[in-house]
Amino acid sequence: MTLFTDFGLAEPLLKALAAEGYEKPTPIQAQTIPLALEGRDVCGIAQTGTGKTAAFALPILNHLAKTPKPLPRKGCRVLVLSPTRELAGQIADSFRTYGRNLRVKTAVVFGGVNLPRQEREMATGVDVLVATPGRLLDLIDRRALSLRDVEILVLDEADQMLDLGFIHALKRIVTMLPKDRQSLFFSATMPKTISSLADDFLRNPAKVAVTPVATTAERVEQGVMFVSTGRKQPLLEILLRDPAIDRVLVFTRTKHGADKVVRGLEKAGISGAAIHGNKSQPARERALAAFRDGSCRVLVATDIAARGIDVEGVTHVINFDLPNVPESYVHRIGRTARAGAAGQAISFCNKEEKAFLSDIQKLTRQTVPVLPMPEGFAAGDLDADAPIPQRGGGRPQPHARGQKPQGHGASRQNDAQAERGPKRRRSRGGKPGGQAAGGQTANTQRSVQGRPGSGGAKPQGSAPRPVASTQPFRRQEGRSDGAQVAWLDKGPRR
Ligand code: AMP
Repeated sequence: MTLFTDFGLAEPLLKALAAEGYEKPTPIQAQTIPLALEGRDVCGIAQTGTGKTAAFALPILNHLAKTPKPLPRKGCRVLVLSPTRELAGQIADSFRTYGRNLRVKTAVVFGGVNLPRQEREMATGVDVLVATPGRLLDLIDRRALSLRDVEILVLDEADQMLDLGFIHALKRIVTMLPKDRQSLFFSATMPKTISSLADDFLRNPAKVAVTPVATTAERVEQGVMFVSTGRKQPLLEILLRDPAIDRVLVFTRTKHGADKVVRGLEKAGISGAAIHGNKSQPARERALAAFRDGSCRVLVATDIAARGIDVEGVTHVINFDLPNVPESYVHRIGRTARAGAAGQAISFCNKEEKAFLSDIQKLTRQTVPVLPMPEGFAAGDLDADAPIPQRGGGRPQPHARGQKPQGHGASRQNDAQAERGPKRRRSRGGKPGGQAAGGQTANTQRSVQGRPGSGGAKPQGSAPRPVASTQPFRRQEGRSDGAQVAWLDKGPRR
């Protein structure tokens, strides 16, 4: 069995890990850390929730600890590219958490916050810069930043980058990086488009992979409730009467839908907040902070906003709408059951969504157990439901793993635009509101520092309780491992 102490990491890092209570590396860490410490390029298949942030942050911090250098003016020694602001904030927090006993200056930049302030922050340079691609290019174009000093590059959630339309930005960025560098590349899936992007970034990479999809789906106790569209909101409100649903992420397919659910909850006297691409950065940060500190029990999110959100102790995920891309279901339910904890996921399914449910069951090779309605609750007439409007038009088409249907991609693209364009305009002159995604965003910090709010969420040990108004969840027995093999066979293995 490998322990963190076996890697030969610098003492200040081992101290920080001990303070976090982490002894044993997760599988992605056990595979990646030794390779990265050797200076190898790494191409990893792993999704959020597997511990992949520490898998790259620890060897990088070790490198910085072993080779101290003055800060490069208007530059950085390590560049981490992240698809979303939330994930960028969380990555920066992790660097601060694990690097708290080192003199490492970390900054995070993303769209939607004050650009001149970020320019000023970059003037003296940083050790680690975590950035979304759009804002990174803004800073480069304004000559506030150069990439000539980058020693290590991380590209995180590459599949998300492509879904969000960052391909051209990434191709531009790669031309500006020094040839002589180490690159670490992570993606939850590895279809052809992504492996060819990886080829642009990596030199003779070592390949590592973990199998999060099936394990996530196995760990989370799942159930589905068949309910008409119009009865979803009352059903949600009844379920939320159960105090066992302590911290719950509710997923809707659209931004508008998320706002509507929150308005309904407010009318029912339940406090909730929505997080999606149309919300201003301060509003997103406030919602996330309230959800983290427990003052907001219900966070309603769209897929893209929730991607990468790492909040400790999410007891339940409720799919108010089922996603039309089955992988999104797995990502969603993975928001609970983080790092070994158990969690529960309840999906509402109307007539039209039955097709989505069947895609999900095919992917996970599990049958999601049907949960009974709360006593006396009428599920409504499923046959009377209007069809779900599809953004890209029509029912979801069968698609190869890793390729998303048109409509889905288009919706994500809108969020990407929100990251790059409209957000900037909206936030002009505005400041990021209070504590960002778990700590400081768009701030720089150097030197030994206090623990950021959430940088190292620990796994939850306690088993989930069943929803009082429904039958206890049953675990699915005897599933094969086929799903995870199918997932991984698309990508490289060591
Ligand atoms: P990530 O996949 O990087 O988002 O990490 C998921 C969660 O696992 C985060 O809350 C981490 O703080 C936590 N974590 C990372 N490494 C470990 C570890 N070795 N042991 C326990 N928890 C960990």
